[in-house]
Amino acid sequence: MSHTKTSIRLSVAMGRIQPSATVGISQMARQLAAEGRDIIALSAGEPDFDTPEPIKEAARRAMDAGKTKYTNIAGIAELREAVADKFRRENGLDVAAEDCFVASGGKQIIFNALMATLDPGDEVVVPVPYWVSYPDIVRLAGATPVFASAGADTGFKITPEKLRAVLSERTRWLILNSPSNPTGAAYGADELAALGAVLRDFPGVLVLSDDIYEHLLYDGGTFATLAQVCPDLADRVVTLNGVSKAYSMTGWRIGYCAAPRELLAGMAKLQGQSTTNACSISQWAAVEALTGSQDFLTEWRSIFQNRRDMVVDGLNRIKGIECLVPDGAFYVFPGISDLLGTVSAGGAAIETDEDFVMALLAEQGVALVHGKAFGLSGHFRLSYAASEKDLSGALERIGVFCAGLKAA
Ligand code: GLU
Repeated sequence: MSHTKTSIRLSVAMGRIQPSATVGISQMARQLAAEGRDIIALSAGEPDFDTPEPIKEAARRAMDAGKTKYTNIAGIAELREAVADKFRRENGLDVAAEDCFVASGGKQIIFNALMATLDPGDEVVVPVPYWVSYPDIVRLAGATPVFASAGADTGFKITPEKLRAVLSERTRWLILNSPSNPTGAAYGADELAALGAVLRDFPGVLVLSDDIYEHLLYDGGTFATLAQVCPDLADRVVTLNGVSKAYSMTGWRIGYCAAPRELLAGMAKLQGQSTTNACSISQWAAVEALTGSQDFLTEWRSIFQNRRDMVVDGLNRIKGIECLVPDGAFYVFPGISDLLGTVSAGGAAIETDEDFVMALLAEQGVALVHGKAFGLSGHFRLSYAASEKDLSGALERIGVFCAGLKAA
């Protein structure tokens, strides 16, 4: 019997999105390492610390107690209560467990919120540079991302004037991320209040406040979030957070939010038709993360701050690299425009930031992510959520690579 090979046609929606560059380059780095290459991967935003023992212990206890079945879509009651308590205690939000929702990572919260609200023709304002997945989730939902510059000239933050210029009656959402991935820039309460004043003139606009890097704020900086600074806007804000970055629990996949209840109903409808609930065992681990001792966060923060200083200093010593000091998160986003239009020691033409990171990976085994993936060419993102040994090794290799660049 002859067999005709079936050609698989992907959906039109798949044609609207790109693979995630952060996830893709990190997978590439893992693959090269598995092939025996000496790779220093600074491409993924993932703390190198182990998940703290009491959190793992809570997961073991949950398994032993048979907490291995489906849960409510929005999460187990204990976790929603712990989330509400965290938002009240740390952020001053006026919320109850019913205002809170749990999903498989922050990404699923974003998917749920955007897919549940967007239609073709709708617009979502995304400050640039942005985390790679925001615009593509918007596009997947059939809506249009509208980019607003938040470049180095304004400390990688959107100004009230720039925000006003892009808002219209088509705008459904504004996405804010502070401290920011990829730049580490963080908005102060006064800056959020100024953005809030603009938003009051556009009552139909919802805001996604992605606070996933909340606990990673340096130099004694105080964290602020929009729903806290402007409580009158809270009924249109999704305050998004999760345990991945703060508690080094990236693989456990727990994100959570506080949001208006009508929106949560839409998100629950969608999640009930996709993953149903976040992993039950991970939810119990997250209860421990949020309610247990938070003491180690202070120590981790100071380790990250030292790494930040080491990386900023090391990069600024390399001719052609210009690196601002980030307020938080664990990324730097230096400019490398002066290094473009060159040829690497290995003979690669370095026309773009993508050429730069690809040649650096091939020739020196350091994995970074190109700025263009975050909407701003002429930069790269380096995650310093790695050991000091890896960071100093990477700085040395980046220095060697840059010193080897010759005029084209
Ligand atoms: N958010 C992290 C990053 O930007 C993890 C990978 C991802 O989901 O993008 O590296």
